[in-house]
Amino acid sequence: MLLLLLAACGHHIPDPGGTVAAMPSFSTSLAVCRAEFATGTLPAGMVVAHHALKEDVPSTQSGLLLVHPGGTWLVDGGMSLAYQTSMREVKGLKGLFLREAAKGWTRLGTPEEVIRRVGILPETLTGAILSHAHFDHLGGLLDLPGVPIWAPPEELAALDSMLPAEARALAPRGHPISFDGPAVGPYPSSWDLFGDGSALIVPMSGHTPGSVGTLLRLANGRRVFHVGDTVWVREGYEGREPKGWLASSFDNDRDGTDLQIQRLWKLHQVDPDLLILPAHDRRQWEALFGASECIR
Ligand SMILES: [Zn+2]
Repeated sequence: MLLLLLAACGHHIPDPGGTVAAMPSFSTSLAVCRAEFATGTLPAGMVVAHHALKEDVPSTQSGLLLVHPGGTWLVDGGMSLAYQTSMREVKGLKGLFLREAAKGWTRLGTPEEVIRRVGILPETLTGAILSHAHFDHLGGLLDLPGVPIWAPPEELAALDSMLPAEARALAPRGHPISFDGPAVGPYPSSWDLFGDGSALIVPMSGHTPGSVGTLLRLANGRRVFHVGDTVWVREGYEGREPKGWLASSFDNDRDGTDLQIQRLWKLHQVDPDLLILPAHDRRQWEALFGASECIR
């Protein structure tokens, strides 16, 4: 109980003032499908500070499949099947915490099975984008052999310190993202994945050195912004709230994470139609997909 009370403590993120540009909108030929690898529950006091949530939140480890005439890409791969074995290498309290935290997830199949279930052949994947290289986003790519993995150079360079065994196995498949495109909304640069503006990758350094966000403009006109683990739940950007104390300890750079949360908070104010999708907030995935596996 004491740990839960402590976990809900946290600092306050100030209103940064000023305004931000909304994210752009136009029609494209991009469809998205959801590959849900595992489900679980996030403790209310841990995922967002100051008791902004009264009840635990249904959580997910999901991959977002981007289906486009230019190729099929996966954003995030969930947790490796060999996770518990590979995490024995991480010693001390951190290792213990990570091994215990992973036991709360219920797998819905191997990454390959889950992707096949939504009608996509894993062997046809063009590449995978990492929102960031933590175990519950990266490891599943071990079970999708041969798929090239794209992330900013600073994220690829930091792989070893985060997830030693899985990083060693996946490092040869890493390709550096260079943000050579223009500013988008409050983000200073971008990478246009398909060259038509339908999927823009933007830098969101904070939770990890090379965290990225993925802005999608779907064929049906909907706009979606996958923000990785910058926030774990929508209350984080709605209320400008950091994660709770315990979860914040996994943010690589607290000031950088606060800056990203301020940007999301402002974006939500100026652009409420944009669906902001924290990687683990299952309520937001349900808001996007409902009972459908794909949105075309
Ligand atoms: Zn995560």
